[in-house]
Amino acid sequence: MTLTHAYAAQSATTPLAPFSFERRAPLQRDVAIDILHCGVCHSDLHTARSEWGPAKYPCVPGHEIVGRVRAIGNGVSKFKVGDIVGVGCMVDSCQHCASCAEGLEQYCENGFTGTYDSPEQISRENTLGGYSDHIVVHEKFVLRISHAESDLAAVAPLLCAGITTYSPLRQWQVGPGQKVGIVGLGGLGHMGVKLAAAMGAQVVLFTTSPGKTADALRLGAKEVVVSKDPAQMAAHANSFDFILNTVAASHDLDPFIALLKRDGTMTLVGAPATPHKSPNVFGLILKRRRLAGSLIGGIAETQEMLDFCAQHGIVSDIEVIAMEQINEAYERMLRSDVKYRFVVDMSTLGQAVAA
Ligand code: NAP
Ligand code: ZN
Repeated sequence: MTLTHAYAAQSATTPLAPFSFERRAPLQRDVAIDILHCGVCHSDLHTARSEWGPAKYPCVPGHEIVGRVRAIGNGVSKFKVGDIVGVGCMVDSCQHCASCAEGLEQYCENGFTGTYDSPEQISRENTLGGYSDHIVVHEKFVLRISHAESDLAAVAPLLCAGITTYSPLRQWQVGPGQKVGIVGLGGLGHMGVKLAAAMGAQVVLFTTSPGKTADALRLGAKEVVVSKDPAQMAAHANSFDFILNTVAASHDLDPFIALLKRDGTMTLVGAPATPHKSPNVFGLILKRRRLAGSLIGGIAETQEMLDFCAQHGIVSDIEVIAMEQINEAYERMLRSDVKYRFVVDMSTLGQAVAA
């Protein structure tokens, strides 16, 4: 066992604060990773505050992890000590169901093990995530990183925001000649804009924050629509092949469904604490439109996404924070005041714990 320093929520209503616990020593196929950078996903906030149902406390969030291998079990073949690696939203799955066999571990029929607030496959102990100095993960769930060392903080958000947007863009075969909408310019949305543009699509960004227009164009959008303005929305009626909706709050889906072409699809990845109102079925029926969902991505596809991003020079736009700024960062995220992902410099954890 190894003493681990971390930041944890002790209840849904208390701020995150220093906490320590023991992690297992690496088993045969385990990789122990010193965490260098950890992105701050809106899912961390939803979980820490029990917005998706009761979390288990203490809760250590964090599933956008980049670090350096400090030790390996004697059966590890993919990694060696010193390698720069990533860990995303999953640390294990049953590894024998049909979905796992297809490399779709996120849809594991026996339930994947999330990086935090999730039962381990055998012990059923609750996992504790990346707001911590190190983590121990089976090598199958560890990703290779080939970006330059100077980019590593900005690579961390790819492990969730990157794969969560990449996977549906691939699933619905987004590419040249297609008009693609991204709804919400936050952590996921800004990756959606960059990735859809890199795949060759004509990207339109929908935002509730007019002040983000210049950034959206810089990130790769061809046009920006303020979604609260019905005239701007109406100008795009029936014209989209695909829309990816990343919004973290419940809202009216009908105005977006009306923008899809016949047979167009809107995929929801945003997971608000309270449900959206039911969409008007005629908006779907009359044009055979589809409303879909998507959950992160499998391990093989996460590796494909990391390699795609390295090849295309894609990283996240980030604001680096110290660990002790995490509670303030959550409040800013709720105000949509993040450009466009907070990443914790984990070297600041020691100071936060000592303070
Ligand atoms: P985020 O950085 O907070 O971004 C969410 C964006 O939604 C905001 O920047 C804002 O964009 C827009 N928004 C917020 N409140 C809104 C409102 N009331 N009405 C309309 N738009 C609003 O969050 P994130 O980390 O990208 O995560 C987004 C959502 O995806 C969260 O619910 C998260 O839990 C979920 N998620 C899902 C998966 C999955 O596998 N499906 C994976 C990771 C995260 P504008 O300012 O541009 O309007
Ligand atoms: Zn996430």
